[in-house]
Amino acid sequence: MSNEITTKAGYAVIVGRPNSGKSTLLNNILKQKVSITSPKPQTTRMAVHAVYEDERGQIIFVDTPGIFAKAEDTVSKKINPKAEQSLKEHVDVIVYLIDHSRDRNLEENKIIGIVRKIQKPKILVYNKLDIKEPSYIPHYRFLEDEFDWTIEISALFKQNLNRLIEAIFELLPVGEKIINTKKMVYPVMNIDSKTFIAEIIREKAFLFLRKELPYSLTTTVDEISDRERGLKYIKARIITNDDRYKKMIIGEKGYMIREIGMAARKELEVATNQKIFLDLTVVTNPHWTEEMI
Ligand code: GDP
Ligand code: MG
Repeated sequence: MSNEITTKAGYAVIVGRPNSGKSTLLNNILKQKVSITSPKPQTTRMAVHAVYEDERGQIIFVDTPGIFAKAEDTVSKKINPKAEQSLKEHVDVIVYLIDHSRDRNLEENKIIGIVRKIQKPKILVYNKLDIKEPSYIPHYRFLEDEFDWTIEISALFKQNLNRLIEAIFELLPVGEKIINTKKMVYPVMNIDSKTFIAEIIREKAFLFLRKELPYSLTTTVDEISDRERGLKYIKARIITNDDRYKKMIIGEKGYMIREIGMAARKELEVATNQKIFLDLTVVTNPHWTEEMI
């Protein structure tokens, strides 16, 4: 009998410009919500670890939101220190996602520069292949030699995702599972649930408020407790820095906050498979700034 380990396990870090489809890819690989997708770039602010596993082993995905938050700033070559840290520490494979329907620009070139410097196995992924034109793939071809694999996918329409998973497994080191997913709540992820809930509420707020108040809010969860008959009680706040915004978030006769709360509750009920009472309020804190970014 042999004790040889036959499974693979490790960290796959997804990098790419805002809106290249990182969150969509993660969500559709895991077939559930783990990270936030939004028409607005960079609404996912923290690295999300999501776990994919099958008989081949375990892939721990790390989304790198806000990695190039300052990319438009040509003077500072800095990337988000948190993201940089996650790139250095927990990387077995880099998955570099390119939206082939957008041409290279300064931001993309910066990412290319950073990705090139990382000495790890790499996969180049052209995303949004469902969009036929424009296509700028010829402008990225020069990169292909530096990558172990080049794969074309549509994250949105789940095309070729299996091929990507296969390539990741191929490049991961041999090893046993790193995270014991049996201990985790559904969905499988290691951000604590308060953060998860806060992000869902934030996403819904953005969804309903759209252009009206782009980045002037944050969300926080104050309490999660179990109530009678399997009901989960969640107390959360939307925090904004201006009374004007507070009014907008509440909306006419509380219409807006009810819509946000209802949408968040529904999604949380699906994610947790539990009945949820969401106690959501809006507060103004003039000192609040986007400190997380
Ligand atoms: P992120 O900023 O990299 O996390 O990008 P998101 O996952 O939030 O996606 C940004 C936008 O691109 C969203 O509107 C997605 O629906 C869209 N998107 C993502 N993948 C695809 C794809 O394969 N095809 C098309 N047509 N749109 C996509
Ligand atoms: Mg995202």
